[in-house]
Amino acid sequence: MKPHVRQTEPFRWEGIPVSGYKPSGTHFSGITRQLVFEGGSGLACELRYFEIEPGGYSSLERHRHAHAIMVIRGTGGVLVGDRVVQLATHDLVRVPPLTWHQFRANDGVPLGFLCMVDCQRDVPERPDDAALTRLRADPSIAAFIRT
Ligand code: MN
Repeated sequence: MKPHVRQTEPFRWEGIPVSGYKPSGTHFSGITRQLVFEGGSGLACELRYFEIEPGGYSSLERHRHAHAIMVIRGTGGVLVGDRVVQLATHDLVRVPPLTWHQFRANDGVPLGFLCMVDCQRDVPERPDDAALTRLRADPSIAAFIRT
């Protein structure tokens, strides 16, 4: 990767494609992904920029690797563990290992965030019916999650 990459327009960078969030699936909606820093050559993590369009959401998932996130555009909400939290621009979110999480943009506003993640990581797990039942025992989580 070049030492300097120019921003071409807000939330877009020279030579960095905007791709789909995940290869396939119906458990997410209206979300794009840009790999802003690829790992390797001395970097053990990578940094992605995800943008969720108004009303969209990321997949509800958990995994052994952690996420470190900074919101850089818009507002939204996140389920992390047993809490639903409202997010504003420049808020920080840490998702520990094996913690259920899902991001949603608010209506009428996108949610864009940088997400740092280990290069070597496990495949995300999605909740089975029993896990969904446990999550939905909390009314605020039941109202928030999308599957
Ligand atoms: Mn995740």
